[in-house]
Amino acid sequence: MIKKFIRQVLRFGRKAGPTIIPKSKHGVSREQLSSGSLRVCDTLQQAGHEAYVVGGAVRDLILGVKPKDFDVATSASPEVVHKLFRRSRLIGRRFKIAHVMFGSETVEVSTFRSGDAEDKDEHGRVLRDNAYGTREQDAARRDFTTNALYYDASNETIIDFHGGMADLRGKSVRIIGDPLTRFREDPVRMLRAVRFASKLGFHIEHATRAPIRSLGKLIENVPPARIFDEMLKLLLSGHAHTTLHRLHTEGLHHGVLPLLDVILEQPLGTRFVNLALEDTDRRALAGKPVSPAFLFAALFWHEVLAAWRAACDKGAHPVPALHQTMDEVLEVQTKKLAIPRRYTAIMKEIWLLQPRFEQRSGKRPFAVLSQERFRAGYDFLRLRSQSGEVPIELADWWERFQSVPHEEQLEMLIAPESGERSGTRRRRRKPRAEPQAEQ
Ligand code: ATP
Ligand code: MG
Repeated sequence: MIKKFIRQVLRFGRKAGPTIIPKSKHGVSREQLSSGSLRVCDTLQQAGHEAYVVGGAVRDLILGVKPKDFDVATSASPEVVHKLFRRSRLIGRRFKIAHVMFGSETVEVSTFRSGDAEDKDEHGRVLRDNAYGTREQDAARRDFTTNALYYDASNETIIDFHGGMADLRGKSVRIIGDPLTRFREDPVRMLRAVRFASKLGFHIEHATRAPIRSLGKLIENVPPARIFDEMLKLLLSGHAHTTLHRLHTEGLHHGVLPLLDVILEQPLGTRFVNLALEDTDRRALAGKPVSPAFLFAALFWHEVLAAWRAACDKGAHPVPALHQTMDEVLEVQTKKLAIPRRYTAIMKEIWLLQPRFEQRSGKRPFAVLSQERFRAGYDFLRLRSQSGEVPIELADWWERFQSVPHEEQLEMLIAPESGERSGTRRRRRKPRAEPQAEQ
């Protein structure tokens, strides 16, 4: 408590200007930077410009975490950066940044920005901030103190304007400036606070956390495509399970995954979503590829399932009813979170395979096996069985069916139920009855 008080007094009492932290205090040597970011900084500095590695990479290196990518901030204009590096391109229409390519590495190089908003909406959300600025201004427009540390590769020092180093030690996610204003300027910062806290095992500092519950609804004003980008980072971070539950605790999921409330109300839905998230996190942390479409299919499955069952109970034909249900669920969801079509197409294929897994007679299982999305569909079925929605025996049957020789596959086929035909013609069939766990 006393320590915290002294730290705060020091923070407010500090003269304007940054703290320069030597390598002996932060421990990061220039060899730990990616070769591309080091080349970018050296070249820019030799040409007389300021250039630093900044953001997540510096934060992660100090914490001993492997950085995802290396971003560079510089006093040079994007055009100057572009001229200095043969393999580079300028991206962005309003605010240009340079991408510099070195083999498989792309270094994002952005010119210092002032953070002065040229245009805001009625809630205080910044619509345009195009002005270049100084290093100090660039630090002030960043989101959290731990994301505003500038690494100078020429002397291996870190320049800290906002007490980021102390917050790294204190495991604290603290917004720079007035929390209310900064969250109003860009509500996505609230999602980012939760993401960093979950990823790093930090707490969200009290004053930063306080307004989140009341400002959460501002996320609804953010363009759905931007929400999607941030959600993708969140879900592929290797900490999706913790982050999603924390979003729920902070009440932030309404503007992002409006259906999550409904899903997490049912024990079976919660169990299924948890299994999917844990599985995704294990894959991400092991460096294996993760399919966003699979994960989104899992997040919304119980919503689809509930609506589909209801439609079938009213006498609708199962196949068209499933198509209609999928479209309705996706329509509600994509208003908030613009899931690109290339993903929704795969999600639908995965969902549509599910009722087909229950048909194990005649030619049908062979047709299912030859589907392009069979593997994803089968993994999905496995999760459903683990959550108690369908019998384990069904998933085991498919596991065996896909791996044995043709003769054995023929022996595995299950005799059609009375009145059932074994051909590939469509037929009325209700979706699987009540879930196992609720029986
Ligand atoms: P990650 O490890 O997930 O890449 P990161 O901190 O590098 O974390 P990025 O989204 O790559 O996050 O952004 C790079 C940097 O840009 C951040 O560290 C932060 O300084 C700044 N930044 C990004 N988004 C915002 C925002 N919405 N508001 C203010 N600053 C931001
Ligand atoms: Mg980054």
